[in-house]
Amino acid sequence: MKGITVLGSTGSIGVSTLDVIARHPGRYRVVALSANTQVERMTAQCLATRPEFAVMVDEDAAAQLAERLRGPAPEVQVLAGLAGLERVASLPQTDHVMAAIVGAAGLKPTLAAARAGKRVLLANKEALVMSGRLFMDEVRRSGAELLPIDSEHNAVFQCMPPDFGRGLAEVGVRRILLTASGGPFRDAPLAALADVTPEQAVAHPNWSMGRKISVDSATMMNKGLEVIEACWLFDTDPAHIQVVLHPQSVVHSMVEYVDGSVLAQLGNPDMRTPIAHALAWPERIASGVASLDFFALSHLDFRAPDLARFPCLRLAVAAMEAGGTAPAVLNAANEIAVDAFLNGRVRFTDIPAIIEASLAAVARSEADTLEQILAADVAARDAAVRLVEKASR
Ligand code: NDP
Repeated sequence: MKGITVLGSTGSIGVSTLDVIARHPGRYRVVALSANTQVERMTAQCLATRPEFAVMVDEDAAAQLAERLRGPAPEVQVLAGLAGLERVASLPQTDHVMAAIVGAAGLKPTLAAARAGKRVLLANKEALVMSGRLFMDEVRRSGAELLPIDSEHNAVFQCMPPDFGRGLAEVGVRRILLTASGGPFRDAPLAALADVTPEQAVAHPNWSMGRKISVDSATMMNKGLEVIEACWLFDTDPAHIQVVLHPQSVVHSMVEYVDGSVLAQLGNPDMRTPIAHALAWPERIASGVASLDFFALSHLDFRAPDLARFPCLRLAVAAMEAGGTAPAVLNAANEIAVDAFLNGRVRFTDIPAIIEASLAAVARSEADTLEQILAADVAARDAAVRLVEKASR
């Protein structure tokens, strides 16, 4: 029995993770769950999975959860605050940690899981974008296993040879082809983008996801964050990664070898496939995902991304090339800008403008320590908040 901590269990990835775990009761045991404020969903998850620990970052939510569990599940220990997250990410009885908190809030607990030498199932791409070198150094030092949950990186991982850690050139890989659906606005008239609503932006054509990543998909910042994520996971650079627009989201990504072979991973767009893969690797377990119906797929399309339509993709690649704290600044400014858009304070087209101006406002430094990274995060949030105020006036 593998013990599992699910960070962000009440979110889209968290719920899919618990769905896969429930299909294999003799194989996995839920040790800990975590959320921010959603007490009702957490209560139901605790009653269904009977974890040892449940963490609510919000103190009031933790008190409410403890009250609700007192009668039906008194054995569940309810913890509050950020310290609880780091604790459940590194418990000795936990083998696998699903890192599925959204945004920079996931950085410290995800790092704690890496430091504790766990199998880290990484959905929280923002943590890796912010702290790439530091995070990968911790993984190497502790002997943690890092398995990507993002469907693209999981696909790339599946198409790589097992010894890709020796270096992509060494193992004959020419480049990574990262597919992208292009989100809901890939064909919308450019002039219409300034007036799109949050509801239109979160209505992703193929995937059902949390609100923040859905907006990131609409701006293609999600693909930009994924280029950075791929650079760290596979020890490469943006020049060896080609983003390919593929509206059907059936080919989840590809690896091209020096002999001209291209290996792809395909499947229905359902996150339970990469989750099941990473949980059981190197074995395979059922995920509940239906077979891909090739006869219902009339065709698969591929085209180049349009950087004029998607400036966020260009900004992310430039931040990775600049290095140091630039990706952390990009990530923080994006979180502020997306939140402001979702709350109706700025327009969709203000998002890249706020990020670009934040990158210009915050001096780049090295990103060797957590302190440097967190200082850049704070400075970028301050800059972006000021820019949001200006844009919403
Ligand atoms: P959701 O918004 O659906 O869920 C986020 C989870 O994080 C919830 O459990 C939420 O708790 C918790 N959370 C939010 N804010 C905080 C905080 N400040 N401190 C602690 N916990 C917090 O997100 P998704 O599941 O869509 O995404 C999670 C991560 O996975 C993201 O990094 C995303 O980029 C990545 N990812 C998601 C994919 C998807 O298909 N959804 C695909 C690939 C990657 P509460 O419910 O209480 O608010």
